[in-house]
Amino acid sequence: MFSLSRRAVVRLRAPAFSVARVRPARAITSFSPRRASAAAAQISPEPIEHTEHVFETPTPPAIEHDQFWQKVPVWKDVTTDEFLSYTWGIKNTVQGDIKLARFLEAVLPDHVPMDDGSGTLQSRDDLITDVLDGIKAATMSTRMTPYILSRINWADPRRDPVFRQFIPVKTRMRPDHPKLTLDSLHESADSPVSGLVHRYPDKALFLPTSVCPTYCMFCTRSYAVGANTESVKKASMKPTKRRWEEALAYVASQPGLHDIVVSGGDAYYLQPEQLAYIGHRLIAMPNIRRFRFASKGLAVAPARILNGAENDGWFDALVSVSDAARKAGKAVALHTHFNHPQEISWISELAARRLWEAGVMVRNQTVLMKGVNDTRDTMATLIRALADSNIFPYYVYQCDMVEKVEHLRTPLQTILDLEAQIRGSIAGFMMPQFVVDLPGGGGKRLACSHLSYDRATGVSQFMAPAVTGRDKDNKVYEYYDPVE
Ligand code: SF4
Repeated sequence: MFSLSRRAVVRLRAPAFSVARVRPARAITSFSPRRASAAAAQISPEPIEHTEHVFETPTPPAIEHDQFWQKVPVWKDVTTDEFLSYTWGIKNTVQGDIKLARFLEAVLPDHVPMDDGSGTLQSRDDLITDVLDGIKAATMSTRMTPYILSRINWADPRRDPVFRQFIPVKTRMRPDHPKLTLDSLHESADSPVSGLVHRYPDKALFLPTSVCPTYCMFCTRSYAVGANTESVKKASMKPTKRRWEEALAYVASQPGLHDIVVSGGDAYYLQPEQLAYIGHRLIAMPNIRRFRFASKGLAVAPARILNGAENDGWFDALVSVSDAARKAGKAVALHTHFNHPQEISWISELAARRLWEAGVMVRNQTVLMKGVNDTRDTMATLIRALADSNIFPYYVYQCDMVEKVEHLRTPLQTILDLEAQIRGSIAGFMMPQFVVDLPGGGGKRLACSHLSYDRATGVSQFMAPAVTGRDKDNKVYEYYDPVE
């Protein structure tokens, strides 16, 4: 069904290299336009020979189609067609504590290794209780697609880099640093209308929805994204027409705004017609020169891009917006969110290839997390794998100072070391920017641009001169390392 074999012969008529013969002209001692044009007329280049070159377009590298999801006991009989069905994926998404507990019951072995290096084991029941306690403490609700669940090694989940991002385990959590907050980037304070964050002079963030296919424990928008949890009542960010129109009217009214990030939540949870509506509204605004849709979909439910057993139109809507924008001389991109090479499979590779062939620019934003991707090898492998799929590694973020993720945060030194070690190992345009999104709303700054970094106290300071207004002129922003 997804055979990509394709042979095309390109015939180009290219000029053979030849050097124009120039008759020696008389020496010109002073410049005269008449003499110069006469001299030019004496130049008689040889006729350009054309040689026909025949190039064969190579078939993209073959991608092995293994049925990796069948390693998960509950999906051992699921066929490739089923697994590639977006409807099947939605139906089998694991959401909420009761469904997650049932799923864990079915997929976990009797015992799993602890992740504290002690060599001890934890029973299945104890791990499930640990997870349920973690859910009670977490700021994000749980929801995971079958795709992302099938990328976990269920024989050793506590040490698994995918499990660690999405499933809270109480005994792994650590007390919050006192400076952690729910809305560490002060997005609410920078929102002139609901769901529209305007921080940079030329760029704004539009949040049309608050729902995602998979919820990340470390979400920077834990104040609004996902369902309420025991500890957090979420700010309302429902996809209502009134809210959207208010936000779009604001964007249109600001001549200085040229760049919009359409995020959420996740643009994957916009219906195709909603995606197209927002895209075409932005294209029609003379002040908007570029925009991006932010979606983790490619990393957690990539089969939708392939339009396998069914076509729900999301990919087509994205391509239609991308094409229309290009014709209007504007740039549209999809920003996705891979954090570990294990999240990449043949399905996401094929999906990325399909987007590339359709002319959709895809960039990636990674969050740096302890025990997930904080080693040189893991980060370098991820960057290269993304680059090989023509997904441009755009940012690696220092984990935001949001509540209940102290166990996932790394000191600033880690991101500085990674940047230093990886730079030069890949072409510069595939090298992500290693940044800190400044707590308090200073925007993204290169981690290495800190004004000071006291490694003893773990406090680093930054300035963001281009971000002004409100309380931000000459403001010094501080990032706090996790408490060791
Ligand atoms: S996909 Fe993005 S918005 Fe959704 S939970 Fe994850 S980090 Fe938050």
